Amino acid sequence: MTNLTGKTILVTGSNRGIGYEIALLLAKAGATVAITARSLDAAKEAAAKIGGDVHPFALDVTDADSVDKCAEEALGKLGKVDAIVNNAGITRDNLAMRMKKEDWDAVIDSNLTGAFRVIQAFLRPMLKQKGGSVINITSVVAASGNPGQPNYCAAKAGLEGLTRSLALEYAGKGLRFNCVAPGFIETDMTAALKEEQRAAFLARIPLGRLGSGEDVAKAVAFLASDDSSYITGQILHVNGGLYLA
Ligand code: NDP
Repeated sequence: MTNLTGKTILVTGSNRGIGYEIALLLAKAGATVAITARSLDAAKEAAAKIGGDVHPFALDVTDADSVDKCAEEALGKLGKVDAIVNNAGITRDNLAMRMKKEDWDAVIDSNLTGAFRVIQAFLRPMLKQKGGSVINITSVVAASGNPGQPNYCAAKAGLEGLTRSLALEYAGKGLRFNCVAPGFIETDMTAALKEEQRAAFLARIPLGRLGSGEDVAKAVAFLASDDSSYITGQILHVNGGLYLA
């Protein structure tokens, strides 16, 4: 297993789903973990479930004040943050012709602007410590597109463009920016899909199974660790061969 001893890592939206699995694996790998959730109680509950060197903070990525407060509290309590995992995300699916403006805006704000807010809040401290790794959770659909998800695909593709741009801006300062792009992972988000949609996805996955949160978490742990110190600006696909970018 990747060794993350000595690393302090913050994961957004880590009270449940893939974010929780990421926090769990990072903690098992020896990291100090900041679990964040929109509700502090939810973060506390998740942190208590994992135990050990795991610390709960409230964080709503759509609220600039909440982001700044979380950064201040996390840096104050933990002393430093070596890596950030921008995992928080939502879907509001619809065909383009039926898409409401509020559903377009909510998905762009949560998945793209939210990640940028969090990155901006930690950029100066990471520059001061002359090192850091940012891992943005995107999606296979950023590369493949998906009918019925124009807002989500645009947000995730935007996040990949942002990642490449920041990788170039800060490579000379010791900061790395990468994405993990999951395919079809079993969580609350995908549980909302209809049975026939799930079956259709499964039929298209060459490795013959849906992904787990742990599959995604292992890729994140690698990118957070010094084992990936020569890797920046990349999109690591974790999709069982569903789409070969
Ligand atoms: P879930 O819906 O299971 O969990 C989403 C998490 O994000 C929750 O913890 C939720 O918190 C949090 N969240 C949502 N909005 C905000 C916000 N404004 N501020 C802070 N936290 C927020 O999703 P998944 O675990 O399935 O997805 C995690 C990430 O992986 C997302 O970015 C998603 O787009 C991506 N992904 C998922 C795939 C899948 O197959 N599941 C495939 C590809 C990518 P709360 O409990 O408060 O709602």
